[in-house]
Amino acid sequence: MEKSILELRGVDHVFTMGMGQKMKVLSDVNVSLYQDEIVAILGPSGSGKSTCLRILAGLLRPTDGQVLIQGETFGGPNPLVSMVFQSFALLPWLTVFENIVLALEPFDLSRNDERSRVRRVIDLVGLEGFEEAYPKELSGGMKQRVGIARALVMERPVMCLDEPFTSLDVLTAETLRAEVLKLWLSKKTATKTLVLITHNISEAALLAKRILVMGTNPGHIRVTIKNDLPYPRDEKTLGFKNLVDRIHDVITQAIIPDQPEWVPPAAAGGVIETVPPVAVPEVIGLLEFIAGRGGQADVFGLTQMLGKDFGHVLFLVKTAELFDFVDTPKNHIVLTDFGKRFIEGDVNVRKRILHEVLRGLRLAQLLEQRLRDAENYTLSFDSVIEGVKEWLPNENAEAVLDALIQWGRYGELFGYNGDTKMIYLDVGQENA
Ligand code: ADP
Ligand code: MG
Repeated sequence: MEKSILELRGVDHVFTMGMGQKMKVLSDVNVSLYQDEIVAILGPSGSGKSTCLRILAGLLRPTDGQVLIQGETFGGPNPLVSMVFQSFALLPWLTVFENIVLALEPFDLSRNDERSRVRRVIDLVGLEGFEEAYPKELSGGMKQRVGIARALVMERPVMCLDEPFTSLDVLTAETLRAEVLKLWLSKKTATKTLVLITHNISEAALLAKRILVMGTNPGHIRVTIKNDLPYPRDEKTLGFKNLVDRIHDVITQAIIPDQPEWVPPAAAGGVIETVPPVAVPEVIGLLEFIAGRGGQADVFGLTQMLGKDFGHVLFLVKTAELFDFVDTPKNHIVLTDFGKRFIEGDVNVRKRILHEVLRGLRLAQLLEQRLRDAENYTLSFDSVIEGVKEWLPNENAEAVLDALIQWGRYGELFGYNGDTKMIYLDVGQENA
């Protein structure tokens, strides 16, 4: 078997927050990288994608597990890796040429060697004539060319790209994506392996040989999808469309290839979070409200605008946060990329996303398992209540189960017959 050049082995990461609380963001991440491949990482925001790249690059030490170069550990920044960021991360007071040459500072090269390396990458990424320009004079696409050139000039075997095309407009992103692929295919660079974070399924399918799909709470690799379609890939072919559908299905957890169909909650572990007793349309209303204000609002302003009491608004926000639709730094509520996708989607997209999110909740998992064990996948409301009391002894079990059923119906995870008061497993999505 071919030997990997770089490997994450059993990596866990825990962040310690301001108040000393610990937050586990990565759990048992194992990745091996090989020469001549592009690996894409897909996953909801907050699933630890950027943290993985920072650990790979040696910018962050994992709290547990190892980063190995051909089987050996190392200290400090990873000498094999260069990075490209979504934000471009250029220094505004330096020209294009100076921004690129800066990356060579640690290498101790002669001025001539530096110049020839920089000229070469400027040529490779199409920045000729812009050497003396400052970042503010450049379009987003040109800025990211500088970002890529700065990584290429280091001539490292592995390049990690953290959502490199996300801040570009669609057409620019498409052009630059195609150019990066062409460059990689040309084998004209010392960089042979690309690791790319993306939110875009087509992008992953167009570029990657392997696609790692990450899940949240804590971040982990859910599934790895191989993509052996020959390069260059054509989005119009049936093979490509099938692949995109398959990735989409995996993301919405309708099917999980190469893995047991059902992971017992006992193995999943962790705390059981309650589902706050709020109605689905209210949370959707909240998200739409925030989306309509550029994706941000503050809690107090929101309470006034919505004309509801503070406690109730907090409940809504807490629910949206539980589903990873919003982040709440300080008193701000910020729509996550995941929340944006949800709110911009039509009802079917919303249902699929919610289906996925709910399946990640331990409470929903517990109910799902009970139903799977039951005859005809059906149980009475009253018999489930006993379980809910056990799982969440301090909550109002009826209210929690009501909310869970309501959310489960929207996400097509559970069904409920109000007349017979029976809860059943909605298996429609699995059979689809
Ligand atoms: P992704 O790139 O998939 O959106 P990140 O790796 O950026 O996810 O973050 C994973 C989780 O870790 C998030 O919940 C984020 O808020 C948290 N996080 C990231 N960086 C830090 C940090 N420096 N301190 C505390 N928490 C962090
Ligand atoms: Mg990120």
